[in-house]
Amino acid sequence: MQRPRNAMEIFKLLEKSNCKKCGEKTCMAFAGAVFLAHRRLDECPKLSQEALNQFAGKTPEHHDILEESSGDLLKKLKSDVAHLDLATAAERVGGRFVDNKLTLKVLGRDFSVDTGGNLFSEIHINHWVAVPFLDYILHCQGVPISGSWISFRELREGMERYPFFKKRCEEPMKRVADIYPELFDDIVHVFGGRRVDSRFQSDISVVLNPLPLVPVMICYWLPGEGMDSSLHVFFDKTADRNLDVESVFTLSTGLAQMFEKIALRHGLADAAS
Ligand code: SF4
Repeated sequence: MQRPRNAMEIFKLLEKSNCKKCGEKTCMAFAGAVFLAHRRLDECPKLSQEALNQFAGKTPEHHDILEESSGDLLKKLKSDVAHLDLATAAERVGGRFVDNKLTLKVLGRDFSVDTGGNLFSEIHINHWVAVPFLDYILHCQGVPISGSWISFRELREGMERYPFFKKRCEEPMKRVADIYPELFDDIVHVFGGRRVDSRFQSDISVVLNPLPLVPVMICYWLPGEGMDSSLHVFFDKTADRNLDVESVFTLSTGLAQMFEKIALRHGLADAAS
């Protein structure tokens, strides 16, 4: 069978019992997450081997989801943004509107969308940035940053998604940090982040700004006294009012992939995998 063309093709394979054993509220939500490569088909424990075989190797991987699997979503978001008053939106989202373009600082670099919904950036336009960027412009409530940090679990609808957030974001980041101590200096340099005073008694705390009103803090605890190392990602407590939790997830897992790439560039491919 060909790669699924939409979430409905995946949904048809599922039991449709909405049993929630996969961690999603419904089978439809799970199908959508698989289609967007946020989940793997084999994470539904109810699926028969026969059904699994139908799409074996055909469901999207995170690294190839840019235009192929999320093309429709991107198209829709671009079209919605093209109907927005970007000058007014710029004030709400902490951006600027110049030359018919709304520009935001994304990880320290300019990232823009024009009144036709076209994207422009100094950096490569990855799906994991483009989708949250447009979603943020459309739905950010403009709530000022509070300065209080909370975990992904504490965001609205974060609790049920946390196991996947841990697996796709915090665990890969920790693996890289464990073998590549320069990671935090590199991400400060590459992503325009900053070291901040140690939070939650961590050894290292770094703040990144993937979107103006959605800062992300990564805290790392070194191993010691019989304890393994640990890494957790925190968000401002206003994050879920400025960005949908799905986009928070997409941004965070995208960052984890970038950290792995940084490690790979330093010849740590085997150790990081
Ligand atoms: S575990 Fe499978 S059957 Fe149950 S809700 Fe999730 S997708 Fe549906």
